[in-house]
Amino acid sequence: PYVIAEPCIDITDRSCMEECPVDCIYEGERKLYINPFECIDCGNCEPACPVEAISQDRHVPDEYAAFAEDNRRFFTEA
Ligand code: SF4
Repeated sequence: PYVIAEPCIDITDRSCMEECPVDCIYEGERKLYINPFECIDCGNCEPACPVEAISQDRHVPDEYAAFAEDNRRFFTEA
């Protein structure tokens, strides 16, 4: 799945949400999150983000690796 990392914090531009064909991008308190169980890996959201916060999980830069885990946790802990 795709993952939203640190640049989204307190930006939450939401352009990505309009591009997602399966509506799997959700709003958290300070950033947006992609539901890894619903994401179909289409890649539409990546170029839509004005702050380049989105990348595919296997391409997430090392400094943002924790965000892949954080995205998953957002949807598994109620
Ligand atoms: Fe939605 Fe596609 Fe982005 Fe996954 S890769 S979050 S399905 S727009």
